[in-house]
Amino acid sequence: MSDHYVKVKVQLEQMKSFGEDAEKERVDTEEQVPVSSPRAAVSPDPSSINTAGRDASRHRGKSRSKLRKDDNSSCVKHISEMSLRGSVVPAHVGKNLKRLGHDRTLHIKGTGEVLQSKSETNGNYATIHPSKSIQEARHEDGFKLGKKRRPVTVDTAKAKTSLEALKLSIKQLNWKEFPLGRRAACDIYWHGVSFHDNENIVSGQVNKFPGMIEMLRKINMSRAVRTMQELFPEEYDFYPRSWILPEEYQQFSTQIRMVKENDATVNPTFIVKPDGGSQGDGIYLIRNPSDLKLMAGSQAKQAVVQEYINKPLLIDKLKFDIRLYVLIKSMEPLEIYIAKEGLTRFCTEPYQEPSQKNLSHVFMHLTNYSLNVHSGNFVHSDSHSTGSKRTLSSVLYRLAAKGVDIKKVWSDIIALVIKTVIAVVPELKVYYQADIPPGKPGPTCFQILGFDILLMKNLKPVLLEVNSNPSMRIEHEQEVAPGVFEYVPSPVDKEVKVGVIRDTLRLMDPGHKKPSTSQPRPEHGEEIPMEAETQERSPDEGALPSLCLKQVYPKYTKQFSHLRLVERIATLFIRFLGVKGNMRLGPTAFRTFIRSCKLSNSTFTMASVDILYIDITRRWSGAAPDSREAGMGLQAFVEAFFYLAGRRFKSLAMREQVATLLELCEAQLDSQSGTEDRRSVSCSRALPRANRTQTLGLANPQLQSPAPLRRAASQDYRLHQRLKPRTLRANVEN
Ligand code: ADP
Repeated sequence: MSDHYVKVKVQLEQMKSFGEDAEKERVDTEEQVPVSSPRAAVSPDPSSINTAGRDASRHRGKSRSKLRKDDNSSCVKHISEMSLRGSVVPAHVGKNLKRLGHDRTLHIKGTGEVLQSKSETNGNYATIHPSKSIQEARHEDGFKLGKKRRPVTVDTAKAKTSLEALKLSIKQLNWKEFPLGRRAACDIYWHGVSFHDNENIVSGQVNKFPGMIEMLRKINMSRAVRTMQELFPEEYDFYPRSWILPEEYQQFSTQIRMVKENDATVNPTFIVKPDGGSQGDGIYLIRNPSDLKLMAGSQAKQAVVQEYINKPLLIDKLKFDIRLYVLIKSMEPLEIYIAKEGLTRFCTEPYQEPSQKNLSHVFMHLTNYSLNVHSGNFVHSDSHSTGSKRTLSSVLYRLAAKGVDIKKVWSDIIALVIKTVIAVVPELKVYYQADIPPGKPGPTCFQILGFDILLMKNLKPVLLEVNSNPSMRIEHEQEVAPGVFEYVPSPVDKEVKVGVIRDTLRLMDPGHKKPSTSQPRPEHGEEIPMEAETQERSPDEGALPSLCLKQVYPKYTKQFSHLRLVERIATLFIRFLGVKGNMRLGPTAFRTFIRSCKLSNSTFTMASVDILYIDITRRWSGAAPDSREAGMGLQAFVEAFFYLAGRRFKSLAMREQVATLLELCEAQLDSQSGTEDRRSVSCSRALPRANRTQTLGLANPQLQSPAPLRRAASQDYRLHQRLKPRTLRANVEN
């Protein structure tokens, strides 16, 4: 064995056990540098990103039952039907394929068996006897059953396409499945699509958060990340520069025109993604703003247009992306786990940088499994390291063998995941309190998310999107006769996805101790003690592999807690929402917020407050004739907060303005009601307390009288278009 090979193996082992040794491993992006190239921002100048448009419009849970897609994650189609003439992947194709998917020519083969043999990559499976169940193996191995406890009960009636993987997981855990639901309460409810799949759950745990689907749609996601980019431009440079259509069409075309005028040799490419799309539906590449397809019939298309990353890392000359599974175990306190194993999805046509000629080559530019599976070049492979869908570890192994610093790549990916979750949590909390108001009986929630990540040639990870319903299918389609497809077991999917579901269940086991929830919250600057990595095992878990999910938060709280500023604004917002179940602030509640935090004075009168409220609320809901809930949503409130902070602390940098105003508000509220009344401020303070002194002067000459205020507001705030009622996305394989 050569020295190099040994080094690579050691590196891989270290990567796999990332997080196991808290002393050695930290997410420290400063210390680690990729071997092949320097860090490069996705957007060279993130601060120049246009900050217009944070959406305030949200739709309440009950309206979320409309499904745009069914839960089929894969499409079935005769290859000859696949149109590649245009650059658009027509949305109707997917739907037609799905209809075909219910055709009787489809068969599901060979599912339901217990996962056998060992795996090198998914959480170090214990070797078990291939022909025996875990139960038998356990017995023969002399595993002593502890005190027998009631098996954990799982309602799988709404599991949809995750059912097969879920069944296997439950079987491995020796838990009890209720495939048709149960009259009595279950410990865990597994939903295939949304929190609302089963209504009226009052106890137990549900594998979906209210509002997650809405939050992770492309426009909302872009807005949430953009708010963070305003506050922390360097930290959030992993998301490509994006514009929201149609409202930012003008900014987009002007900026592109200016870029081209400045340097005629620059000819950037952009990718256009419909807001509600998935699996590559409706996506196309453009080089000119005039090529945007802005209308669908008489309606303006809601979409995100994004800088196209034209230098992706290639393997075997092919573009690929990473599907990483991330568990949000709890939102309060925030607990995030990342699966050590993921999938990589490969294009099926060798990559070339975009040119006018190849813009429409979807098999070259889009990595979606659901598209590439219909290419004649798609390779189904039972091996983890070949074919068009491979395990993440096999790809990292390849990269390590080439000398890539995969520990650094992995650590950058973890940082990306934590930062992204921090960006979406504030609004999720608003949904959560609306659906499960504090004090009312309700379930607790957890959720597995699918992060789609692209590695740039310089190894920098870029966030493409986050799927609220990543496909948990463990079969793939295969064409068994011309035009006839059937689902056959996919070993790669099975290995990764069963591990993720099983270990999610283990972490959610109500019989297990919850290690971190009872810990006191740290104050600013105080280091959070590292949590033990291995959670206490239940007696029934003896023969199971070690967990394939690794905790990354609160484990790495210290590095990321300063980013949770918007979450604190959301905490203020929720506090003043008043009537339980609301998601928007009324004018009186906004006034109460201003009064309670003592933000008005002789130069910023309550009349100015009303104008500010009306102005911002109108901007955010102006295009919302069908709005059911009037008032100020969180994003509008955040904008008002930024505005107030900017007016009051003009001399400070934006981040400090916001942090200082937060300190001020929190201090006021604390002094009025005592800390125990404050609802769930879970993060440490972003600024040292010393900074407060500078900011407590309430009389503020910078705050203007109503007329200039309105003028300033008109100039400062951009028109925000309210989103259309959300349709729900089903499980997405991509
Ligand atoms: P969908 O939800 O329809 O799959 P994605 O945002 O995941 O939409 O994009 C589909 C595919 O397009 C991705 O899997 C990736 O291959 C490619 N892609 C998306 N955004 C970019 C980008 N900014 N630069 C380069 N490729 C991209």
